[in-house]
Amino acid sequence: SSKDSGKNKFSIFDSEMNRHQLRRMSLEKDLRKALAQSEFMVVYQPKWDSLMNVTVGLEALLRWRHPEHGIISPAEFIPIAEETGLIVPITYWMLHEVCSQNLLWHKEGVASVAVSINMSARMFETEDLYEVVVDALSRSGLDPQYLELEITESIAMNNMEETVAQLSKLRRLGVRVSLDDFGTGFSSLGNLDEIPVNTLKIDQVFIRKSKMHSKKAIISNIIAIASNLNMEVVAEGVETPEQIELLQSLGCRVMQGYYYGRPMPVHELGQWFTDNAAVV
Ligand code: C2E
Ligand code: MG
Ligand code: MG
Ligand code: MG
Repeated sequence: SSKDSGKNKFSIFDSEMNRHQLRRMSLEKDLRKALAQSEFMVVYQPKWDSLMNVTVGLEALLRWRHPEHGIISPAEFIPIAEETGLIVPITYWMLHEVCSQNLLWHKEGVASVAVSINMSARMFETEDLYEVVVDALSRSGLDPQYLELEITESIAMNNMEETVAQLSKLRRLGVRVSLDDFGTGFSSLGNLDEIPVNTLKIDQVFIRKSKMHSKKAIISNIIAIASNLNMEVVAEGVETPEQIELLQSLGCRVMQGYYYGRPMPVHELGQWFTDNAAVV
């Protein structure tokens, strides 16, 4: 009967909702054990100086090797980690892992470049971010100038006073700071000069559509703002020679993207640095 089919439609909708929620719930449960079970790994993507043709930095990106589902994208698990607060211990682990690994590359003479770590808003709500960073640096022995924190505009703009205070302390230590996904956060440009950052990272949406005059104009203006505020600029998501040529013509030389290198596990980076003369 029609009554039955209506009920069936509802059940199908219901079961899809459930499937989504069940995956979410089971991932959340598994995420709580993932650190203890060593399921996280860090991959590193090069930042490339396109004029000198050298690697000038790396971005550390988190990967979760789930025992049943395989590699799970940060796009799926970072929001869960943020909602549950698990992002805090995960970021502590990242900081220690990345600082120790970077010191190893220095000691082995493999490379001396800054490695950046993405910071969630949650990390700025934790009062002791400064202490945690200092602890990771001193335990590893890494010089602070080789650590960079990537934050988004929304973090910097919400609770600006507190964020600026924490970032200023870190900057005084020598830690570098960059504004990630710049241009997508609806930030008020009027405050940009008050945030203590070294680098603006132009979001990949602008690079992807850089053939459009309007996007080109935005890229060009981000580069001008960075230059006028004495900040460096990095273009994200660079995939084609055309994009590189355009970015260079606009005065951007440091780039990150699949064209130059995908995020790589530690064991591939030794070879990478051998093939791609790093600054040592
Ligand atoms: P993000 O910080 O903006 O990182 C850039 C993302 O773009 C990375 O995705 C990277 O793999 C990808 N990408 C780089 N070059 C290209 C390219 O040429 N083309 C395309 N299509 N994509 C490119 P990934 O690793 O999946 O990370 C996604 C986001 O998850 C990151 O965006 C970051 O916001 C977040 N994330 C990753 N690791 C961490 C972490 O340890 N902590 C926190 N809080 N967030 C993280
Ligand atoms: Mg980033
Ligand atoms: Mg980004
Ligand atoms: Mg992004």
